[in-house]
Amino acid sequence: MNRIPFGQECLLPVRHFDSCPCCGSGQGRFHEPGCGLEECPECCDPVVRCQCDVLSLVDQAIVMKAIAATFTSCLDAMEAATKDIEDQSLAVRGAWLAAWRLAPPEVRAKLSEGLAKCLPSWRADFCDDTGKGFMSAAAVAEGLGKPLEEVQAVVKVIGDLGEPPVGQLHRVH
Ligand SMILES: [Zn+2]
Ligand SMILES: [Zn+2]
Repeated sequence: MNRIPFGQECLLPVRHFDSCPCCGSGQGRFHEPGCGLEECPECCDPVVRCQCDVLSLVDQAIVMKAIAATFTSCLDAMEAATKDIEDQSLAVRGAWLAAWRLAPPEVRAKLSEGLAKCLPSWRADFCDDTGKGFMSAAAVAEGLGKPLEEVQAVVKVIGDLGEPPVGQLHRVH
């Protein structure tokens, strides 16, 4: 689905400005990733807040990363991520990414445990010397039902969620 550039919004009352009051993008240009005034082409609500899931996986990853970068405290990120349990928006997913990044190692371990319980079919296919599991991009692609190339592109965008150097990992099965 096509993203809506600044100035072509159908509902959000921003098109009369010369540039986006939130991210500063000029008329006809795309909003900066994570801008709260970019409109969803499907429902016309802000694309970071709605649940339409219209952006490509790679665009979603870019937006999540930009939103995650706005947090400096793990607790703030956690609060934003868990405010509404039904909310699956990019804003919430970005907050989760920030919470994960800012969490101390023992909290990260708990988060991974919780995730493994929620998604039992998502099994790690590699582990490192400490026994910590990692999923390959191929396993994630299968879990999501998305093309491998798309998942690899997302891993590249997100960076630190990617796999550690393969030489340090052993296959689990
Ligand atoms: Zn903007
Ligand atoms: Zn929408």
